[in-house]
Amino acid sequence: MSQTRILVTGGAGFIGSHYVRTLLGPLGPDDVSVTVLDAFTYAANRASLDEVADSPRFRLVVGDICDPDVVGPLIAEHDQVVHFAAESHVDRSLSSSAEFVRTNVMGTQVLLDAALQHGIGTFVHVSTDEVYGSISTGSCSEEQSVNPNSPYAASKAASDLLALVYHRSHDLDVRVTRCSNNYGHHQYPEKIIPLFVSLLLQGRKVPLYGDGMNVRDWLHIDDHVRGIELVRTRGRAGEIYNIGGGTELDNRRLTERLLEACGASWDQVEYVTDRKGHDRRYSVDWSKAHTELGYKPQKDFTEGLAETVAWYRDNRDWWEPATTEADGPATGTPAC
Ligand code: NAD
Repeated sequence: MSQTRILVTGGAGFIGSHYVRTLLGPLGPDDVSVTVLDAFTYAANRASLDEVADSPRFRLVVGDICDPDVVGPLIAEHDQVVHFAAESHVDRSLSSSAEFVRTNVMGTQVLLDAALQHGIGTFVHVSTDEVYGSISTGSCSEEQSVNPNSPYAASKAASDLLALVYHRSHDLDVRVTRCSNNYGHHQYPEKIIPLFVSLLLQGRKVPLYGDGMNVRDWLHIDDHVRGIELVRTRGRAGEIYNIGGGTELDNRRLTERLLEACGASWDQVEYVTDRKGHDRRYSVDWSKAHTELGYKPQKDFTEGLAETVAWYRDNRDWWEPATTEADGPATGTPAC
């Protein structure tokens, strides 16, 4: 059987590794092989790929997407690219944005140039709802123009627009996904859910930003990965697809759920100064992905959250070393 050779950038991170485990797992397609290209920044974890490490259809390359000498020859050996690699944490982008511009913008440009040069069949660019900026009511459709409010979101908007332009200018088959906030297992403990869960499991206090009323739409990684696969296999070139989760919660209600799940109380919550430029609310309209591709989030949030907390409780050796790193969340800041 001929195999589609997929290059997955950032495949040792949270969402990328789940995508790879799903593709090469028992329910995945048997006509794909996967190469992960990952620079192994602080956010990556080799153990996240243990499940697939022995698969004959899996290969790992440690390298930087900004390096044309690594990217060019690798892309030449592949049919498709699914591009997750990024600096992904808003708070880090506020204190130091250079790496966000380098990886998210320059790295994407290096990949797109190589994809064009070597005639890549399909390039899926994984973007974010943060490119739309904050909206108080309603949901953003794909027609909405971008209006980012953090260096992270601006770097993602730049790479997202660059990817789309490679379709318009060069007819490269680029497809862009814009998803909401992901949650699930194997997420580095710096974003709100894994950060709060890991701190609460250690009996520590959790830092809640501002008045805690910022709203996010929560998307389980299983649903996100299914959405990305639908876009890769059935989406159209040059199109943007929003992928939403269907559970909107403000951070106070989310914190309430996390305290309950970890058997903790509000005494363990510390209100801290709000994040600079903190977007109040994101919401994406995912009806296009539903109508065109049959996408619909399936994971019940209560069930997904309980499974996520159970995973962190049972896999302390995966996340605990990160909480003692000098620049890790032990000293750090809350985030979404
Ligand atoms: P993550 O931070 O967990 O993982 C990012 C991965 O990219 C890591 O494995 C890291 O080592 C790798 N990487 C970073 N710089 C690299 C470089 N220069 N070369 C090669 N690899 C490099 O991120 P994630 O949460 O899995 O997010 C994946 C993608 O999804 C990102 O593009 C992010 O912007 C997007 N996204 C994430 C969320 C979310 O809720 N996590 C929401 C919307 C969009």
